[in-house]
Amino acid sequence: MIPPEFDYVAVDTLDEALSALREEDAKVLAGGHSLLPLMKLRLAAPSVLVDIRKVPGLRGVQRENGQWRIGALTRHADLQGNADLGPVGKAAALIADQQVRNRGTIGGSLAHGDPASDLPTVLLAAEGVVTVTGSGGTREVAAADLFQDYLTTSVDDDEVLTEVRVPDFRGWGSSYLKFSRRAEDWAMVGVCAIVKKGADGTIEDVRVGLTNMGSTPLRASATEAALRGQGVDAIASAAEQAAEGTDPPGDLNATPEYKQHLARVLTRRALEEAAAA
Ligand SMILES: Cc1cc2nc3c(=O)[nH]c(=O)nc-3n(C[C@H](O)[C@H](O)[C@H](O)COP(=O)(O)OP(=O)(O)OC[C@H]3O[C@@H](n4cnc5c(N)ncnc54)[C@H](O)[C@@H]3O)c2cc1C
Repeated sequence: MIPPEFDYVAVDTLDEALSALREEDAKVLAGGHSLLPLMKLRLAAPSVLVDIRKVPGLRGVQRENGQWRIGALTRHADLQGNADLGPVGKAAALIADQQVRNRGTIGGSLAHGDPASDLPTVLLAAEGVVTVTGSGGTREVAAADLFQDYLTTSVDDDEVLTEVRVPDFRGWGSSYLKFSRRAEDWAMVGVCAIVKKGADGTIEDVRVGLTNMGSTPLRASATEAALRGQGVDAIASAAEQAAEGTDPPGDLNATPEYKQHLARVLTRRALEEAAAA
């Protein structure tokens, strides 16, 4: 498939990117692994691609004030398996295959807002924050306000997502599980569980995020509420509430009901794994 004609500019600074993005229908290009497929399918037709990969300061992982700061251009491959990053490293390792992970970026995944993507669910469950810069200045957007609808985020077309911040979950247990028909496929359903246990073994705090269970990533709030302050023996019954309030679309792989079943099963497994860590 051939994409429609477009212009291309590779910028050296963030200011150059912001000025190029003033062009009508301009789009940021990062790893290109979501945008280019959409263009080839003619579901997106930007007039100009603004390639930000040479902009300095947008890559890498740093720990600061109990948080991880991750540059938007940090690739999935740079995050995969990083045990310090807890659920972020675990989910990144399960994104597609190594070729995709070598190109795709965390900023691209979050700005794109595909509810079947893995890192948006982790950001939501982790209650992370992104930094977004536009010609009007810089703003912080909490994960709960970032994902607005299917492929729709609160990052405007003339803005650049520059940084992702997630809490340091040392002392917590975490798990990211996804179910797909073939290895390395997109998730039919995915679950991120993050658990903090007290000295007596009770669950002090818990976060559960769901992938591909609606038009945005979702929190399994009923499960979280049922587990806080309880022992790990409450996991199985709490996980039964994981699909409450979800509205997953049916597709070639699964009916909505089957996805809801998967959400309950994966939530139980992810919580058990996180609580045992
Ligand atoms: C075969 C295949 C399988 C895949 N499987 C999975 C999977 O299992 N799980 C998963 O999570 N993902 C999967 N992906 C998607 C992959 O992770 C993408 O790389 C990622 O979602 C988008 O990142 P990118 O850097 O490639 O963004 P791009 O494709 O460059 O951009 C995507 C969108 O975000 C915008 N954008 C990008 N960066 C920024 C920024 N810094 N600021 C503002 N806007 C920005 C672009 O303008 C565009 O609209 C798959 C992709 C492919 C091709």
